[in-house]
Amino acid sequence: MFDYMIVGAGFAGSVMAERLASVHGKKVLIVEKRPHIGGNAYDHYNDDGVLVHKYGPHIFHTNSQDVFDYLSRFTEWRPYMHRVLASVDGQLMPIPINLTTLNQYFGLNLTSFDVEQFLAKLAEKREAIRTSEDVVLSKVGRELYEKFFRNYTRKQWGLDPSELDATVIARIPVRTNRDDRYFSDKYQVMPKHGYTRMFERMLDHPNIKILLNTDYHEVKDVIPYREMIFTGPVDEYFDYCYGKLPYRSLNFRHETHSQEKFQEAPVVNFPNEYPYTRCTEFKYLTGQEHPKTSVVYEYPTAEGDPYYPVPRPENAELYRKYEALAKDTPGVHFVGRLATYKYYNMDQVVAQALTLCTKIIGVRRRELLD
Ligand code: FAD
Ligand code: UDP
Repeated sequence: MFDYMIVGAGFAGSVMAERLASVHGKKVLIVEKRPHIGGNAYDHYNDDGVLVHKYGPHIFHTNSQDVFDYLSRFTEWRPYMHRVLASVDGQLMPIPINLTTLNQYFGLNLTSFDVEQFLAKLAEKREAIRTSEDVVLSKVGRELYEKFFRNYTRKQWGLDPSELDATVIARIPVRTNRDDRYFSDKYQVMPKHGYTRMFERMLDHPNIKILLNTDYHEVKDVIPYREMIFTGPVDEYFDYCYGKLPYRSLNFRHETHSQEKFQEAPVVNFPNEYPYTRCTEFKYLTGQEHPKTSVVYEYPTAEGDPYYPVPRPENAELYRKYEALAKDTPGVHFVGRLATYKYYNMDQVVAQALTLCTKIIGVRRRELLD
């Protein structure tokens, strides 16, 4: 008899398994339908020996000391500041938009003292900041919106920025200095030996058993357990009884090139050309030295594995119905990006799982992490 059946071996499922086994002495079974652990953060060495992220680039960043300290139990880190260039009008320019981007795009020589006034002239007044369009227009105006954001967003989401919550594009700041880092968080690091190695160490506990290549439907009535932790799509759990929650998917095109370096930056974004949104060269992220190099192109699509919840009011409303059902389902806990329909980064999922652990075990955060 297992105490918990945990559906999914991504961050949500793995953190739950690790804490319930280590702190609470519970016996857990993780059931994962893919042939590997790690969820979307899974990485592996490809046929040429280059470390790649199977489901697109995963860069770790957080402001949470708790999350950073917790994961540090299972991995050493490599400092890594992520940088992205956007391909606009045949030029590569830093994104998030910063002083360098503005000078390059407009052919100017502004200093950081001039930028605020310059942007104020470009910015459009908005009554309220509700949508992603409002966010950009109110900060940098229409021209930069059209060149850097509008088409990228339409490609990525199949929706106009005016149809998406403000929170989507608000992920990308606008900077008045020359800081060209993609993220501003206190901790910006990559697991030194990769994500999968980190997950292996998390799950290496005598109370944790893992069943790969198995959909939980196949075993839920056969293997006895007391409670379930569910990290898959919440609408799927309830047989889509209120209709499907929209998720955005991606097709990945992985390529390996017989050269040491492929592009000028870890990621190049293509807002306006091509059906793909961005190209990532993994060696920048992993620090691996290798005579060859591997890249991945991301092609957004409506069909396929659910990767992104789509943040907009009607979806939030539909999710609230599933959330109410979830709350009314005794013995099943829902956690993670798909099960709570939240556009969460890895660190936010870890934090969410730690919070759920404190509730289940009945301890404070400090006791959970001591
Ligand atoms: P998942 O990793 O999706 O894990 C859920 C698991 O449940 C999956 O392995 C799935 O196979 C399994 N499952 C589902 N249904 C069933 C079933 N019926 N039976 C058995 N198993 C099932 N975050 C960052 O912080 N930085 C980044 O740079 C970043 N980049 C990203 C890039 C892309 C392209 C994507 C898609 C996401 C990115 N993220 C990034 C977000 C990150 O992937 C998630 O926050 C995190 O992986 C979510 O973990 P999770 O455990 O909630 O879900
Ligand atoms: N975005 C954009 N242009 C860019 C980069 C991002 O319009 O060059 C918008 C787009 O809507 C994207 C969102 O900002 O989906 C969030 O970008 P982020 O890089 O955080 O997306 P993720 O890594 O989660 O795919």
